[in-house]
Parts: sequence; C-alpha cells; structure tokens
Amino acid sequence: MKVGKRYALTDVSVIDGNGGKPVNNQAVIINDGYIEKVCPADELNDDPIEKISLPGKYVMPGLIDSHVHTLGITDLKYWGQIEYSAALTYSYSQALRMLKYGFTSVRDISENGVYLKRAFNMPGVTGPRIVACGRGLNRTGGHADVTLYNELDFEEKNNMVAYRADGADECRKAVRRILRTGADQIKFWATGGGNNFIDRYTDIHYSEEEIRAICEEAKLIEGTKVLVHCENPELSKICIEAGVDSIEHCTGYAPFLCDLMKEKDVYLVPTMRLLTKWVEDVVTGDFEAFLNETIPKFFQRDFLIPSAVSKEEQDQAEVEEVKAAFRHAVENGIKIGLGSDTCFEKLMPYGWYGVLEMESMQECGMSPEQVICSATKINSEILGLENALGTVEEGKLADLLVINQDPTEDVRVFQNDDIIEYIFMGGELVVDHGRMIL
Ligand SMILES: [Zn+2]
Repeated sequence: MKVGKRYALTDVSVIDGNGGKPVNNQAVIINDGYIEKVCPADELNDDPIEKISLPGKYVMPGLIDSHVHTLGITDLKYWGQIEYSAALTYSYSQALRMLKYGFTSVRDISENGVYLKRAFNMPGVTGPRIVACGRGLNRTGGHADVTLYNELDFEEKNNMVAYRADGADECRKAVRRILRTGADQIKFWATGGGNNFIDRYTDIHYSEEEIRAICEEAKLIEGTKVLVHCENPELSKICIEAGVDSIEHCTGYAPFLCDLMKEKDVYLVPTMRLLTKWVEDVVTGDFEAFLNETIPKFFQRDFLIPSAVSKEEQDQAEVEEVKAAFRHAVENGIKIGLGSDTCFEKLMPYGWYGVLEMESMQECGMSPEQVICSATKINSEILGLENALGTVEEGKLADLLVINQDPTEDVRVFQNDDIIEYIFMGGELVVDHGRMIL
C-alpha cells in the first residue's frame, strides 16, 4: 500500500485514546504527516481525496511505553560485559521489535537510546520515536551499578544504563553530563531494587540533599522532566516535594501520597507485570542459579536469621500489597502511565513485555479503556509530547495503528499475532501485516 501526502483512512471505528469506546463509521484525514480531521465517513462521499477503505477495522493512536531500557543485551549476565558498540548495534533491533508490537514511541533509559533517537530522526531511518533519558544516576553500589564484577575488572563506559554519582556535587555533574549527551529527561534510582546485596528495595540510596540537587539541576534546563525509581513511599514524598514528575514502580505509591501527587501533577508508572509476575517471568531456572552464583550466600545479609514466613509467602504478601496500592491509585484518579521496564531480551522480550503490561494493568483493576488511555494519552503527557502524540485528534502526528479487534473489550487482543494490520508513523506506513518497511 502506497499512500499520498493527503489521504483518508475511512469506514473505520476510531478509538481516540481519551478513554472511551470506539466510534463507528469514521474517517481520519491525514495531511503531510498530521491528522487534519476526524469525521463521519459519509462526509467524504463527494470528496476526491485518496481513500483507503478499511471496514471492520479500528484506528487508534500508536502505543507508548514510558519505561524501557534498550540495553542491547540478550541476557542480564552480559550487562557491563559487552563492548559498548556491540550493545548499541543490538539495541537497534530491540527498538524495532517494540515498534512491531505497536509501540510507536518509548521513553528509554540508557545511553543507547540517545543515539537511537538521533538515528531515527534522520530521514529514511525507521524506528519508534524515542524520548531519551540517557543514563540514569545511581549511587556506587546502586540498582544499576554493575556490582557483579569487581570494580577493577569493570569499565563504567560499558554500563549503558547508569552513571555512579555520590554526593550532591557529583549528582549535579552527572545531570550535566547526561543532558550533554542529548537526553530529554533525567532518571535516578532513589532506592534499591534487588540487583545486589546492598540493593534491597527497602534500602534508601539517595539522601534528601542529593535528590534535591538532581531535581534542581535538571530543572535549570527548561522542560526537563525527572523520573525516579522509588520503592519507598516515604522517600517518594521527598522526591515529589523536590520536584520529580513521575514515580516509577507501584511499590513507591501509598494512599497518603494521593493528594500530594494530584496537587503537584505527578504521574505513576506502576510496572505491574514486573512487580506482580517477576517470580514467574524472571526468577526461574538458570537465572536463580546465576544469582546465587553471583551473590554468594555470605553476602546475603539476612541468611542466618530464621524467618517465620517462607520466601514464597513473603513474595505473595508483597504482591498483594502492590495490587492494593495500584487499585487505590486507579480508584482515586492518579494519572497512571504504561511502562514495562523491559531491559533484556531473554525473559522480557521487547514489545511483548509491554503487551503483557497491558494485561497486568487490566487484571489488577483498570478497565480496558483505561489501559489504552494509559498507553496513549497519559503516556504522551509523561513524555512531554501531549501536543503531538497520544490521541487521534486534529493536529496530532499521524502515528496510528490499524487493528482488526476491539481492545476496549479486552486488551489481551494485543497478544494475537495478527491483530495489527498497519502501523503508520507521521502518516507513513512503516509496518504492513508484521512486515517492516525500512
Ligand atoms: Zn527500569
């Protein structure tokens, strides 16, 4: 299918991204990459415009994933141990796979993302739109520090995802270095997250002074949003007061934050699949063996302390707590964006993990319409691109999916292989029945 500069997708049902049901018998007029108008199909009866009639199909905004890491590794065990250039090259295919699943835009945390963004902005290079955070900031021994290897054996340039920064001054410097690479937003890890023995999610990694320094420094450059990995609601409060724009991971949310988040216009990116199915998806077989090998028992500080509850019971209790926090956020009008946290290929396939995140959000208490709104309109706001993306409305870029089933009944339809017929970016056809047009 070749399309002209001005054409109409017609006889379609439109899901506009605002959270409602499809509207039938519509036409979407696209002109020079942008949506010129959305109107009833019969308004075009006498119009000589080029028409692509797609009866029975749905047109919706391209999906957005607001939390990914295109790390360019297939398996976590290669993290920090692959040459930078090889990781960067492989990250290109990770980005394309996300596009193939319908994610026309992503917010990426990795230095690779900065370069992918540049490449995809060149004429003739196809890939999802990237809002780049570059590397994030973590403290020495933090969540994204590669502690699997001795410091002497490890070159920090091979860690595509983070800089080490300790103390307010280093934090300021790191923010400047990250912005210098071309990053749009700044990410930092305020708490641990379970990658090493001093990285439990209960561990606080940055002080209030450091958090304030990061936010202040980022905000000196107008329009720079700040996102924080925070799994401790008390610390989330400090982050919000310091000026962060989104809290990543639902473990950082608690009902007492609700009013403050609404007042300060702070978003939540809950990463529900990761938090509720981590054990099932990732901590299986060889990965567990790998962790035990790399984090010897004597480094696991609590291993001598007998516990009344089993590890399984404890995991289950934590999952229930996260689900309750999510339900509270949904029911009380917190603005929630879809983020998958995809970071390596083997157990979190690019694109597919975002599709699974939709299912988890639905399972944990959102309606399908709310999930779609999270993955489109709300995420366009999180990316700071709400004037260009996120809805099927006049004036927006024509980043559109044409699909053959109604996801407002059940978002799991995105798991069907052949649901996406066409993907348009800026009015150009980039995926035709699963085939990329490069
Ligand atoms: Zn992440």
